[in-house]
Amino acid sequence: MPLTLQIDADRWRAHVRTYVAGATRIVPVTKGSGYGFGNSVLAAEASTLGIDTIAVGTYEEVAAATGPFPGDVLVLSPWRPTLDVDLVDEGRVVHTVSRLTDLRDLAESDRRPRVVVEVLTSMRRHGIATTEIGQAVSLLDRVRFEGWALHLPLTGDRLAQARDLARLFVATSGSEGHRLWLSHLDRSDATTLAAETSADIRLRVGTALWLGQRSAFRARASILDVHAVRRGQPYGYRQRRASRDGVLLVVAGGTAHGVALAAPSPAASLRQRAVSVGTGVLEGLGYALSPYHVAGKRRWFAEPPHMQCSLIWLPTGTDPPAVGDEIDIDVRFTTTTFDRIVWT
Ligand SMILES: *Cc1c(COP(=O)(O)O)cnc(C)c1O
Repeated sequence: MPLTLQIDADRWRAHVRTYVAGATRIVPVTKGSGYGFGNSVLAAEASTLGIDTIAVGTYEEVAAATGPFPGDVLVLSPWRPTLDVDLVDEGRVVHTVSRLTDLRDLAESDRRPRVVVEVLTSMRRHGIATTEIGQAVSLLDRVRFEGWALHLPLTGDRLAQARDLARLFVATSGSEGHRLWLSHLDRSDATTLAAETSADIRLRVGTALWLGQRSAFRARASILDVHAVRRGQPYGYRQRRASRDGVLLVVAGGTAHGVALAAPSPAASLRQRAVSVGTGVLEGLGYALSPYHVAGKRRWFAEPPHMQCSLIWLPTGTDPPAVGDEIDIDVRFTTTTFDRIVWT
């Protein structure tokens, strides 16, 4: 009864290979839902790309990566002294350190761990302050220093921000040819930055790498059951009554898959906001547009999604699909867990 991620293997792999083959060294990121593919699938794909390092989000994700992928694994969440994950193969793990106190802890241990030191950018997620770079440098000979890390936002002049910080690293640590781990910089900007600062750039990329070739994969939902419903008949957990005759489709995909989780939309334009408000009014009346498509149109949920399936309302006049058919579903791949992947 699956929610399926269907991938055109040749086209998808061609995109991933081309992306990684460019001038800038790419560090594929696999974390969370594994961008819909799952972390172990992506780690296995990464092992065919001829690269030395991939990145995971958390320490809990390290084991899923070190299995299929034979190289190094950078952990993006900062190391903390409270960490209680047993790292079986710590020699392959590169820690991200984002506070002086944590760097001191690691420097004082006799592990000589491999670390990148993250510096706070305008993202303001994690990182030491630029004023602390000097103090950090004085601790680096007691760890295996792998470079500086910067997490850049999705907008603004990121090249300028990266350039300023890269120059600061050179001014403070005096290291020519230092390594810089970055996110969210265009590859052309990364090339410019490398030329300007002589830094060895590593670009951490998830979305643009795995989900960049949108036409190479799609989400499909199986039709699990089809029921004709007459006006006034009750249905569903909430025993709502049908307001007219129609067809109830039971389709694969529910809360466990991440279907219909509403994340705040980055709606910026007035038009986008107006659309959200319009949808919100209907939702206020108890209706919600589902991500499922039947006969070329998005259809309404008959009630909120269940754990592994959803009820979709289809008005009379539209030919219902048959049990076992598959329909398109619009999902956000970063919040979706599929039952299976089908490579075609
Ligand atoms: C998730 C993440 C990335 C990759 O982000 P995408 O937008 O998926 O490319 C890079 N760096 C850090 C620190 C991250 O948390």
